[in-house]
Amino acid sequence: MKRKVLVTLNLTKDCLDRLAGECEIDVNAHDRPMDRNVFLERIAGKDGLLPSITDKVDAEAMERAPSLKMIANFGVGFNNIDVTAATARGIPVSNTPGVLTDATADVAFALILAVNRRVVEGDRMVREGRFLFWAPFHFLGSEVSGKVLGIVGMGRIGQAVARRARGFDMPILYSGRTRLAPADEAALGASFRPFPDLLAEADIVSLHVPLTPETHHLIDREALGRMKPSAVLINTARGPVVDEKALVAAIRAGTIAGAGLDVYEDEPCLAPGLVELENVVLLPHVGSGTWETRTKMADMAVTNLLAGLRGERPPNLVNPEVWK
Ligand code: NAP
Repeated sequence: MKRKVLVTLNLTKDCLDRLAGECEIDVNAHDRPMDRNVFLERIAGKDGLLPSITDKVDAEAMERAPSLKMIANFGVGFNNIDVTAATARGIPVSNTPGVLTDATADVAFALILAVNRRVVEGDRMVREGRFLFWAPFHFLGSEVSGKVLGIVGMGRIGQAVARRARGFDMPILYSGRTRLAPADEAALGASFRPFPDLLAEADIVSLHVPLTPETHHLIDREALGRMKPSAVLINTARGPVVDEKALVAAIRAGTIAGAGLDVYEDEPCLAPGLVELENVVLLPHVGSGTWETRTKMADMAVTNLLAGLRGERPPNLVNPEVWK
């Protein structure tokens, strides 16, 4: 009998065909997240789950599907899944690392340039007919080349941002849980700093840590207070890494100069006052949002799901302890 699988997001035809070859599939074909109650109803009786990062896959969801054998997340970040609850039930969980590294680093760099050179604000000015003259000291931004970049979380995406920054002659500082090997630091031209020192020295602070209990509100009022008044914050990691209300207050007060955000604390809702700030650039969580990358992510998630359902080790297992 074919395994029953719930796919909570729309995938490419190729991917759906691959799944349908081995499984009975229930797909949310709409380009909208599944409502929680519908998700809980439709996960019942399933053997496999391919969720979106917007689906909360918690113990309640797992209890609805006692035969669940594999959860293959569509995304590298898996904070939407209670991995501890899955591991306790012996359910392998996988993610999609690597294939989205460059796309996400590109968006981080797009935000760095957009905030510092006022790209979006300038676009609004031109469209609204407010571009009336050129003058040498009018509508100035802040130079990016040569500025100190502080990378928080020097993993795959953090390193890809560092490689881009080298082309802009930016001194690169990084902080994180693990220090890179000296040869890797030298190859990236990056110097390690304790987190508080990085905040104080960087002109641009770019976040690339996963969302975990340890990184929740890593950037809070105190951290913002350590940054230079001329510095900007870039977040392409996960919204709750930043205390968004504290960020709005810090930008209003001039504690920091601006921010570029791809992710939000309570997506898709924004903290009160955020949209009124001219010196922030806001994107709708599109770090991995290129056709090429999303296609690769879909393919990878399907490969992981099928492997787990066949009883083979999924290539991108995040809880290897279930495989002992
Ligand atoms: P990664 O390779 O695992 O890198 C994460 C880095 O953060 C690692 O260097 C890790 O250190 C460090 N880290 C983990 N916990 C930490 C802590 N408590 N304090 C300080 N540093 C810590 O992951 P990645 O592929 O670069 O992805 C990073 C995150 O980006 C994902 O988890 C996801 O949430 C987010 N993301 C967002 C988008 C988007 O659309 N905006 C797209 C892709 C990814 P260790 O080496 O010690 O583990």
